[in-house]
Amino acid sequence: MILEVKRNHLEKIRAEALKTRAELCGFIIGRIEGNKALAVEFRRARNVLNSAIRFQIDPQEFLRVLGEVENRTMDIIGFYHSHPSLASPSAEDEKFMSLWPDKIWLIVSSINGDARAFVYKGRIEEIRLKEI
Ligand SMILES: [Zn+2]
Repeated sequence: MILEVKRNHLEKIRAEALKTRAELCGFIIGRIEGNKALAVEFRRARNVLNSAIRFQIDPQEFLRVLGEVENRTMDIIGFYHSHPSLASPSAEDEKFMSLWPDKIWLIVSSINGDARAFVYKGRIEEIRLKEI
């Protein structure tokens, strides 16, 4: 699977990740076409934990965005968040990833700007991230 992301979207997330103290988090809104996931929009969400090492998206915000994308025939294809370390899933991430196996998880490192995408298929698998 490939996740296609617009370069300027990724640059914006990188810049925001470098600026925030708490982990940045949000939704990846887009479409899945066969083996290709196209990220149309990144919607930042409030990290209700306000933590530098963990995140949790406000459930109210989740429902609101879900309703919104349904009207636009799109989907929440995944989630993104930042790490104040490397862009690899933590044990905590793995727990949540296993609960949402059809979602893509994009992690951006706020120390080196690295971005990597993953899915959970019984175990964590990295997918190709293509900047377009
Ligand atoms: Zn994480």
